[in-house]
Amino acid sequence: MKPVLIAALTAAALLPLPARAGYPLAERETLAATVWMQSSVEMTGVTRSVYHAATLAIPAALASTIPAATEAAGDTANKPPAVVLDIDETVLNNVAYNARQALQGKGFEAASWARWVAATQAPAIEGAKAFLDAAEQHGMKVIFITNRECDKHGGYDQRGRALLCPQRAATLKNLEAALGRRPADDELLMRNELAGRDDHDKSERRREVSRNYRIALLVGDDLEDFISRSRYQPELYAGYFGTRWFVLPNPVYGSWKRQYKDSDALYRGLKPWNDAP
Ligand SMILES: [Mg+2]
Repeated sequence: MKPVLIAALTAAALLPLPARAGYPLAERETLAATVWMQSSVEMTGVTRSVYHAATLAIPAALASTIPAATEAAGDTANKPPAVVLDIDETVLNNVAYNARQALQGKGFEAASWARWVAATQAPAIEGAKAFLDAAEQHGMKVIFITNRECDKHGGYDQRGRALLCPQRAATLKNLEAALGRRPADDELLMRNELAGRDDHDKSERRREVSRNYRIALLVGDDLEDFISRSRYQPELYAGYFGTRWFVLPNPVYGSWKRQYKDSDALYRGLKPWNDAP
């Protein structure tokens, strides 16, 4: 091969991928996952299957005195039962946001996410509405714990409630449009909604709900919708999946991805088959 050609090929190989392929590089690794979540029949099949299984699990969950939330303490057996659900990628499908970001070569950004939330256009995750109706028919309180957030820089009133929380109003509107239900005041717990509450994960809010209710079922798309990642031990908790914890698929984003900061880290996360003789 001629040196000039080798030099040209080497230079091309060093170019960032978008210049060669015509697509932005950032978030490229989420491309197939985003299309799968947005357009595949398989996604619909999985979410309907999960919610169907969760519906079938209601009687056993109600009969058990062991709460689904590991943060519960003291006597929970005599408290009224509740199901606690996450919102994003659990009951509302936001993949159109990820699709837009992917086309622009971007990942999650707080500003564009706030615009998406304000637009209240997220459709329901398939299967969610039928499950929520069944839970209510079984006398369960339906509570949403979401990391959609209030503005902690907007200050708090005398009761410690956030003064600035446009995402709360937007979320209520979107839930009503997509699922035909508008949660009451105590049925929607936002991030940074209360002054002084540690909302870095959802444990504190599960503990708060557990003071008044026995959380019989948890539904989410992220391990941290069930338990803090640092507290999860498979030998203790793997058996909760499919009985008390029901997980919707989300290969696009989530706390599982925190340890993979970039493409190189994702590649290092592969565990390849070793076919050496
Ligand atoms: Mg979620």
